[in-house]
Amino acid sequence: MAARAALPKVCIALGLPTTEKLIDQAEKELAAGEHFLEFRLDYLNRPEQGVKAIQQFLAKHPEATVLATCRRHQNHGKYDGLIEDQLKILDAAIDAGAKAIDVEIETAEKVIDKVEHLRAKTQLIVSWHNYEGTPPLEPVLRRMLKVPADAYKVVTTAKKPSDSGKVLALQKAHPRVPLILLAMGETGFPTRVLCNALGGVYTYASPNAVEGTAPGQVSSRVLRNLYRIDKLSKSAKIYGVIADPVRHSLSPNVHNRAFQARRLDAVYLPFLVKSTQLKDFIQLCDSLPVQGFSVTIPHKQRILKYLDHVDLLARRIGAVNTVWKKAGKWRGTNTDAPAVTKPLSKKIKLNKSKVLIAGNGGAARGAAFALADAGAQIAIVGRNPDRVRALAKICGAEPLLREQMNGRRFDALVHATPMGMWPHVNECFFPDQVPADLVFDMVYNPLETELVRRAKAQGATIIPGLEMFLTQAAQQFEIWTEDKAPISVMEKAALEALGK
Ligand code: NAP
Repeated sequence: MAARAALPKVCIALGLPTTEKLIDQAEKELAAGEHFLEFRLDYLNRPEQGVKAIQQFLAKHPEATVLATCRRHQNHGKYDGLIEDQLKILDAAIDAGAKAIDVEIETAEKVIDKVEHLRAKTQLIVSWHNYEGTPPLEPVLRRMLKVPADAYKVVTTAKKPSDSGKVLALQKAHPRVPLILLAMGETGFPTRVLCNALGGVYTYASPNAVEGTAPGQVSSRVLRNLYRIDKLSKSAKIYGVIADPVRHSLSPNVHNRAFQARRLDAVYLPFLVKSTQLKDFIQLCDSLPVQGFSVTIPHKQRILKYLDHVDLLARRIGAVNTVWKKAGKWRGTNTDAPAVTKPLSKKIKLNKSKVLIAGNGGAARGAAFALADAGAQIAIVGRNPDRVRALAKICGAEPLLREQMNGRRFDALVHATPMGMWPHVNECFFPDQVPADLVFDMVYNPLETELVRRAKAQGATIIPGLEMFLTQAAQQFEIWTEDKAPISVMEKAALEALGK
């Protein structure tokens, strides 16, 4: 068999009910610069009509590469016909110009000879899907390799973080086997970004304008522009944020842009890690070159027990938001705390100031310790007397309840509750007077909160939450890379992600 042209690196899966819609969507993807398109013939109301669609589309757009798939419903597709008819459709799709076909292993192994006949005419991808989880994959690959093919596609469902590592490990164990590796679902997102860098044949993206065909897919624009999948090498360093939920985090935007600006072979991923999955995530870090990560809700406290070294301030606060690997050991610190004192100390002398902290959660606690260390006189106000008192006691602050606020004024207010945060944009911790002339609101979405609006109306000076976010992110970047953080690039990325 003659050597075959390499397939493009990003495939857009198109599953639509009519040929008109399919062609229309395919043309939109071409216009967006995507040339490798999977036509899911089994998604069409009449799959056999897909052959004509391929012919028409390629006659007009010969530069496109079409992958034809007509997966049977028994094997997680939508095609209702017999294997014989499935193969007939795929054969006709090849004659219509498809450069590759995807045949699921359940069909391929039943009719190896016939499938081999198709392979003589085009590239054959043999695929295996598991929608329930990620079982041991070596037996799966052994089974698949019995069918000669140009590439083997292994698709699982990620239920826990280490499932991504398990899937990607297959490429490491079989560097000479052409593989396409994916773990579906939000937890499996890292596989979509890392598949190509680790040697995979290509990765899948959803169309730029409509829903994709598998859970967890992201658009090619995001994969290429934000995660720079075309630029990452096999030895790219991996960073990320662990959170639940993680989808709305600004950190991937901010850190990936910073890596790009400094031309680093590194990527920053959103890792969905549920509260019970921290140990499993640490296992993932051992199977992939994870060099560091940001930690946010709900892991800031629990992460401590997995770290080899935690600095004194983070230990006193009892929360870590930044982790990195040094000499094979995991180290942790808290960059949220200095991100409170740094912007405040540009405006007031902390050791001569009275600062009110609203809230008694993790962020308030970090602020309280950092401000106490800087010599500020602190008061803490919250809604739960016991919790307010408990925090006030350990950092030498005055405990206050909201109803005790009448007539009290402070040099600065640090607001550390989620009140006013999207979608609760009309909420405000201080319904009447804002009790300070310098107001630091940790909430950054929206950029201008109800508290900020009221404080401005009173003539107060504002430190926006975004400044804290960027200050802590910049410090993380500098810890991880030992390079200066490109602050203006990071700010632009954050504003862009917030739609500004
Ligand atoms: P947390 O640990 O869950 O603490 C939340 C605090 O807010 C608790 O003290 C809670 O009081 C209080 N609270 C919640 N809802 C309230 C309400 N309706 N009325 C009065 N108090 C309420 O969260 P966190 O990590 O400290 O974060 C707090 C806020 O800071 C969040 O909005 C977060 O996004 C923001 N933050 C921003 C940055 C940044 O970089 N800008 C960094 C960290 C955090 P109870 O104890 O009584 O429940």
